[in-house]
Amino acid sequence: MAYISTRGEAPKISFTEALLAGLAPDGGLYVPEAMPRLSPEEMRGFAGKPYVEVAEAVISPFLEGALAAPDFRAMLKAAYQSFRHKAVTPLTQIDDNLFVLELFHGPTLAFKDVAMQLLGRLMDRALKARGQRATIVGATSGDTGAAAIEAFRGLDQVDVFILYPHGRVSDVQRRQMTTVAADNVHVIALEGTFDDAQGMLKAFFRNRVLREELGLSGVNSINFARVVAQMVYYFTSAAVLGGPLRKISFTVPTGNFGDILAGHMARQMGLPVEKLIVATNSNDILARALASGRYELRGVHATQSPSMDIQVSSNFERLLFDAVDRDPAVLRGLMANLDQSGAFEIPPAALARIRAEFGAGSTSEAETSAEIGRTWRECEGLLDPHTAVAVHVARQFLARDPSTPMVALGTAHPAKFPDAVRAATGVSAPLPPHLADLFERQERFDVLPNDAQAVARFVRARARAATGKHGG
Ligand SMILES: *Cc1c(COP(=O)(O)O)cnc(C)c1O
Repeated sequence: MAYISTRGEAPKISFTEALLAGLAPDGGLYVPEAMPRLSPEEMRGFAGKPYVEVAEAVISPFLEGALAAPDFRAMLKAAYQSFRHKAVTPLTQIDDNLFVLELFHGPTLAFKDVAMQLLGRLMDRALKARGQRATIVGATSGDTGAAAIEAFRGLDQVDVFILYPHGRVSDVQRRQMTTVAADNVHVIALEGTFDDAQGMLKAFFRNRVLREELGLSGVNSINFARVVAQMVYYFTSAAVLGGPLRKISFTVPTGNFGDILAGHMARQMGLPVEKLIVATNSNDILARALASGRYELRGVHATQSPSMDIQVSSNFERLLFDAVDRDPAVLRGLMANLDQSGAFEIPPAALARIRAEFGAGSTSEAETSAEIGRTWRECEGLLDPHTAVAVHVARQFLARDPSTPMVALGTAHPAKFPDAVRAATGVSAPLPPHLADLFERQERFDVLPNDAQAVARFVRARARAATGKHGG
């Protein structure tokens, strides 16, 4: 399987190369040249199967030769053993035909672990085989950073630098990043927003000298391997609810569009999906874009669901690429408009296609709190604010189409956002035992100005890949 860039100006590469590169050198995102398909019989066979078996069937076609089947199976087992639930991603029913897909039973209590636990293992293996070192620089709105640190801590081949927006993540999120004592982990509090951090990261990748000197690698949701790992739970949850014989709808709390893009790809692989619904908080660029056809940047406001406080939804580019019939010239034009004027118009035919597949809704801060309270009162279910955004939007779509099962993706454990949960319900969600002493642990991080030069200097001075040989 070959991977191509959405901007059409980078060479075709293999899965392993796309895994290690993250962003393409032309500024585009890697996508598979063609989508593999699963037959209805294969999907029917997923009912009752362990998560790792479904994962193997779904992900293997994308690897094509990158590693031997028994090695990949062992890797999946190890990755998902770190989850505290037998089902890995269990479903809970909270209303008639309304289900929460719990993606937060991994080590850092957010859905990012599902992909990162696999990504860390895939990268470490690929780097060892090549005798290479890599520098991972990641931008996080809160959860990616912790998940990446957990997945890469202590590895010989990799140094990890995580940029998060100073003062804009929850205490639990910050402490999960800053209390890890590992020499290869560096946490940077950037005096800016998540979009500033992500923009800086994109500039680093465009800088060829820096990219090669550091062996830069990305673990943000632009990394295609993450999207692939996130496809698996669309198949497992559909199988529980009677798919592929029935269509299922999914509502996804969306920031960078990685999680919901995995749903789009699951559908391209053959999964019968009725609607994919984008749920946003008041940072609603995607909901506005679907409604008006105009993708337009506005300021970011801080909400109770910080992992979705994003304006530039990077993975949306992958959906657009499909929606414009994979014409990279059209896509380059749209992205140039975005860079120049902060907006672009989605071409009408592309918009019609997107609307046929996707719905969207946004949730205010008051509605988020009300939803946390309602679900608690009705079924003693505690929702974190991100999941609550999804459940609120899911209920509206379910009211219009009550006979199609609706799965709201539960992206974080309620204990990760204790203040919002307590304010809405009066109860506290306790941290699981492995994190019980989080607030007693020593923190370690550096505050840096919102200045790419300063951040580059900091990374250069500490990355092992920069100080010696490139390692081939
Ligand atoms: C990252 C994250 C999201 C958004 O996911 P995207 O793939 O960026 O759309 C939603 N909820 C939580 C808790 C997250 O950590």
